[in-house]
Amino acid sequence: MDQRPQDYLFKVVLIGDSAVGKSNLLSRFARDQFHPNSKSTIGVEFQTKTLDVEGKVIRAQVWDTAGQERFKAVTAAYYRGAVGALLVYDVSRRQTFDSVGRWLEELHTHCNMNAVTVLVGNKTDLEDTREVSTAEGRILAEAQGLFFMETSALDSSNVTAAFQTVVEEIYHIVSRKAS
Ligand code: GDP
Repeated sequence: MDQRPQDYLFKVVLIGDSAVGKSNLLSRFARDQFHPNSKSTIGVEFQTKTLDVEGKVIRAQVWDTAGQERFKAVTAAYYRGAVGALLVYDVSRRQTFDSVGRWLEELHTHCNMNAVTVLVGNKTDLEDTREVSTAEGRILAEAQGLFFMETSALDSSNVTAAFQTVVEEIYHIVSRKAS
């Protein structure tokens, strides 16, 4: 791990339906790894990665549900202290997009409106079986005041950008408050 002293530590949570690719987005971001049959991350609570934003050393502590959502309950402790969220759906499974509203409600229940949120349409490599268009994702994000990005954890497309976006936006809010 990067040993430099950090200027900020931000907790970011991954949310979204089961099997949309949350664990793989995190392992791609933190370790540049992809797991085709992943359930390898069950039990892992978070991974940390250091990012540079405008000359500051920012440690992103990114939490993974580690499968909790399959039991229909992500605990309050999971959300506690989160200042950012990646709300992930799978562009090749419409039902995961239909769940976005429910996840937003849960996020707002636990974090008020305080968590910077990026709506992430993952698995863009599955273009042939896509069920949710880019435009639909963008429109929903705009309507809900979210940032928007499409990613592929498999081919590594836009993954760093999605995490970088959430961290940069949190930093902008925090540094504005401090000045
Ligand atoms: P989670 O339950 O949301 O954490 O999802 P996982 O990260 O465990 O991924 C669920 C399944 O989708 C696994 O078989 C992954 O290999 C696969 N997967 C994850 N991301 C991608 C992606 O970007 N493209 C494709 N084609 N498959 C993916």
